[in-house]
Amino acid sequence: MTKEHNFSAGPCVLPKSVLQKSSEAILDFDNGLSLLEISHRSKPFVDVMEQARALALELLGLEGKGYKALFLQGGASTQFLMVALNLLEKRAGYLNTGTWSDKAIKEAKIYDDIYEVGSSKSANYNYIPKGYEIPSDYDYFHCTSNNTIFGTQMKKFPNSPVPMVCDMSSDIFSRQLDFSKFDLIYAGAQKNMGPAGTILVVVKEDILGKVSRKIPSMMDYKVHISKGSMFNTPPVFAVYTSMLTMQWLKDLGGIKAIEKENEMKARIIYSEIDLNPLFKGYAVKEDRSMMNATFTLENENLKETFDAMWKEAGINGLNGHRSVGGYRASMYNALTVDSVKALVEVMSELESKA
Ligand code: PMP
Repeated sequence: MTKEHNFSAGPCVLPKSVLQKSSEAILDFDNGLSLLEISHRSKPFVDVMEQARALALELLGLEGKGYKALFLQGGASTQFLMVALNLLEKRAGYLNTGTWSDKAIKEAKIYDDIYEVGSSKSANYNYIPKGYEIPSDYDYFHCTSNNTIFGTQMKKFPNSPVPMVCDMSSDIFSRQLDFSKFDLIYAGAQKNMGPAGTILVVVKEDILGKVSRKIPSMMDYKVHISKGSMFNTPPVFAVYTSMLTMQWLKDLGGIKAIEKENEMKARIIYSEIDLNPLFKGYAVKEDRSMMNATFTLENENLKETFDAMWKEAGINGLNGHRSVGGYRASMYNALTVDSVKALVEVMSELESKA
């Protein structure tokens, strides 16, 4: 049976046309040479890197505004400490909205005490704290725009008096925001951008160079900027595939166009969760994520039947994270409306059977 509807939380669904093109490049990228066997300093790859960096800024509407885009390695997990190494002098404020925020806080705490401006940890992160204050003498404020595990998403961002840093790993390029409110955005590729192996960092240059510590070269944003994101050998396949996905998104009409699709997918799944008495949403309604819908069965005795039904319908990757349980439907940019309809059909079929 084909697993045609891929709801995996990440790595996850990518556009078929992108997979087609990137697989072709493995066999023949430059006159018979594979993308994987040419120098990263050769013109064809330098062009890919430059295009990828330019596309990221273009899609986010940040060209000519003092930002630089980098494609680095080590995942978002490395950014947790890289942010602190580059920006933390005295104290920073973090909004704790989930496992990934918590991990970011843990890494930053290696360098100094961190102040949690707000936290929903005691409610197992089923909502986004509001009404918090960010002290104006802090070095920066850090938040996570979308909480992949718990299915919550920040709908509003504060007017931060200090540089605002955001982990957008699981909702980058999915909705329109005023991205110029942020001074540093990072996002692992493996959700809306490409395969695992690279991370996009978009940083406003004027926030750098203000800490007194010595920063190891690989951890220093300024070093990566000065080398055009080529300080060391970049992950060529991940960068190339990310470039293709960004091109795909641009051709589709950019973030504005995909946001409409994402809103439609979210409306379809959440109305089923709310109308079908067999299911219950996990996140509070006002903070529900457009990317990851988390829900549980009201009656656990139906689990076996439901699991068999969605697998039979060609659905993949629906199991929830162990810290929430139940189910998680991840609906990243490349997941089609038809896939969401296929899931909703199974959910309503379960209701008619029960
Ligand atoms: N932040 C968020 C919001 C994530 O969803 C993830 C991974 N799922 C990470 C950080 C960690 O990313 P990585 O595995 O690339 O280090």
